[in-house]
Amino acid sequence: PTTVMWFRRDLRLADNPALVAAVEAARADGDDVVGLYVLDEALWSRAGANRLAYLVDSLRALDEACGGALVVRRGDPREVVPAVVREARASEVHAAASHEPYGARRDDAVRAALPTGVPLVTTGSAYAVSPGRLRTGSGTPYQVFTPFRGAWLEHGWRPPAPRPREIPWRPLRRDDLPAVEPTATLPRAGEAAARRRWHAFLRDGLSGYAEQRDRPDLAGTSAMSVHLRWGEVHPRTLLADLAGTPGLPSDDVATFRSELAWREFHADVLHHQPGARSRSLRAVVPEDAWAQDDAEAELLDAWREGRTGYPLVDAGMRQLLATGWMHNRVRMVVASFLVKDLHVRWQRGAEHFMAHLVDGDVSQNQLNWQWVAGTGYDAAPYFRVFNPVTQAKKFDPDGDYVRRWVPELRDVDGPRAHEPWRLDPPPPGYPARLVDHATERKVALDDFHRARTSR
Ligand code: FAD
Repeated sequence: PTTVMWFRRDLRLADNPALVAAVEAARADGDDVVGLYVLDEALWSRAGANRLAYLVDSLRALDEACGGALVVRRGDPREVVPAVVREARASEVHAAASHEPYGARRDDAVRAALPTGVPLVTTGSAYAVSPGRLRTGSGTPYQVFTPFRGAWLEHGWRPPAPRPREIPWRPLRRDDLPAVEPTATLPRAGEAAARRRWHAFLRDGLSGYAEQRDRPDLAGTSAMSVHLRWGEVHPRTLLADLAGTPGLPSDDVATFRSELAWREFHADVLHHQPGARSRSLRAVVPEDAWAQDDAEAELLDAWREGRTGYPLVDAGMRQLLATGWMHNRVRMVVASFLVKDLHVRWQRGAEHFMAHLVDGDVSQNQLNWQWVAGTGYDAAPYFRVFNPVTQAKKFDPDGDYVRRWVPELRDVDGPRAHEPWRLDPPPPGYPARLVDHATERKVALDDFHRARTSR
């Protein structure tokens, strides 16, 4: 039969088991495959210009890899997918399973809307181990990372799927890709760019990763998050390369694998707790602890624009605006600062991140925010408050990262850039501290204490 391969967050041809299934089913009868991407308004409207612009570039790259036959249609998948099936007289739709709250609901709705007898066949997912698969000994979902990682490693994953050769693509009418102007300078999109980036990291970056991954002043991480977000590469491919490349330092390999396990853990948690997208999994401070209305808006604006007067926080927020990405250590520091120093709810910060991050991913973003805010499963305890100065001195020891993103501090030498309020005269143009960290830390701890004693 003619089959439809519905691409979603798997914008690649290599190691794509759903594509293999679509091609095999079509080939069995000497038929062809429609490669479909639906630009879904419901996701589109929430994505932010950077993620959208990146998606458009990635779709261009995928189209090229499909010999110009990728069928892009705008609209509601519940209408578009059945319409394409009818147009092509297809008898099967293939896709990788979606585990995010919206994706799972959408797929159920599409399944119900397909013509009778046409199944939506899901093969594989965006994870090495599909969310929902691992359970504790007593059959419950995991709530703690370390045992999850143990079970995940023990479960293992399939070898990468072979890339189908000469796919009999069937072109159909398609809509133009929208023109989207990103607000930041974005990385190269597409499967080939992802592979190049990964191989460069394996060759030059992995050695030393365990030590350097926390240093925002160095290019010590893989920058694979955006490629994983869009499925330009599957994590299984990365895991197979890590296992199959001789001579890699084992500590670095183990640390990198563990970071991928965090990604899978968060996806598993959101799969079981779709409400965690917007609600705290645990309440840790009383409702009245949060800044309200105008006060909140003012604090939030200063944070968003990188005007808090804390250089590491401001550097991170400006890096986000300029590049659509932020270093993980700095994401933790700015998130902690918003929640515990400015007393603004994590949801507001998560929303800003989702509006700007190219790798913005609901499971990773919301659950990392909950981790920092102390409201998630296996989260950092609420009383762990990141000190933006200590963190800066430890992880940006010479102040290079801060100077790169905060031009007002360019003329301040070395780590002195982390405490501009100690300079006389203060660096021109750089804002004074919005709040005093020591004071706000105490407020946060008091709030936490109040919640515990009132239970
Ligand atoms: P590397 O250090 O090279 O890590 C390799 C891969 O491991 C990453 O690409 C990523 O897939 C995974 N990984 C690393 N750290 C984490 C982590 N803490 N949680 C889950 N997976 C991880 N990551 C996203 O992909 N999308 C998001 O929307 C997102 N939002 C975040 C929000 C906050 C508040 C925080 C603290 C972290 C967030 N992260 C998010 C996780 C992490 O910051 C990024 O994955 C990482 O910075 C990406 O850079 P990299 O690929 O160079 O990382």
